[in-house]
Amino acid sequence: MTTSKADLEREVRKLRSRPGWDPRKLVKEDPMDRLAEINQGLRSERTYDEADVCEACASARDSQDDETALCAEHLAEAMGF
Ligand SMILES: [Zn+2]
Repeated sequence: MTTSKADLEREVRKLRSRPGWDPRKLVKEDPMDRLAEINQGLRSERTYDEADVCEACASARDSQDDETALCAEHLAEAMGF
């Protein structure tokens, strides 16, 4: 089972829910910053795909009652380390 599309949509919702997010201001921002954010989102999507089959992530999701919880290893990956 793959939830990568749902994960990506969740990332987009997270971006949009950030204070200060305003699509109308995007044209004034550095496009490279936007590209970096998009790349970060794609990296998170890949990490979540791996996390779907990771036992440590599964137990992190259970213990934190959070379906987006990750183990330390995958959390670091999602953050871009
Ligand atoms: Zn993991």
